[in-house]
Amino acid sequence: MGDTCTRGCRFCSVKTSKAPPPLDPHEPEHTAEALSRWGLGYVVLTSVDRDDLVDGGARHFAETISKIKQKAPTMLVEALTGDFGGDLSMVGLVARSGLDVYAHNIETVEELTPFVRDRRAKFRQSLDVLEAAKRAKEELITKTSIMLGLGETEDQVWDTLKGEYIITIIIINFFASFILFQTIRLLPRIPSLSMLPFLQPPFLLPLLSPLPALQSSSSSSSSSSTTTPIPFP
Ligand code: SF4
Repeated sequence: MGDTCTRGCRFCSVKTSKAPPPLDPHEPEHTAEALSRWGLGYVVLTSVDRDDLVDGGARHFAETISKIKQKAPTMLVEALTGDFGGDLSMVGLVARSGLDVYAHNIETVEELTPFVRDRRAKFRQSLDVLEAAKRAKEELITKTSIMLGLGETEDQVWDTLKGEYIITIIIINFFASFILFQTIRLLPRIPSLSMLPFLQPPFLLPLLSPLPALQSSSSSSSSSSTTTPIPFP
């Protein structure tokens, strides 16, 4: 779907344009063919946002996933998508295309969203995307990621993880912005102690407990370890 995004999130250094080049119609076939030859067990597809396209590129995503599953039925496929401009029917289209894991990143806490993400990306809209993916295909694993160290408070992080917010999100990744960082434009990088509790194994391991659902669909032997979710403060 190209190397040029129609959005301009402040943490991202991808090229941006209002009118990127058109999609390559052969990309789904070529991608599926290459992946099937590599013999991988798990692949992650992602793309720039394409707000210039009527469907946001959802059909291109869905076609790619469908072709991968035709050529390599045992390969697990994760798609990290944009929000398709809030068009949840397009989210459903991708979710039902044969996908195993639907990923869409909330990136940061709600309070910092306007300062971190492109103005068209909304925190609640991203939650709607994840919920719509889960509704479209119940057994689908949904996943999101959040960067820590942008100035969020610990309470804001806990609020993000609580209650309704994570009702449909199975896996949450945390990225420590001071470790991984690329370039943050216009944003001060504020070292934040808020990330410390969330980088500890006792917090991270329980979040992995839903993974057996995914593992059972692969041929790998399953782990016998079980984890108990820790209570939110
Ligand atoms: S939508 Fe994704 S690729 Fe585009 S600017 Fe934002 S983070 Fe970068």
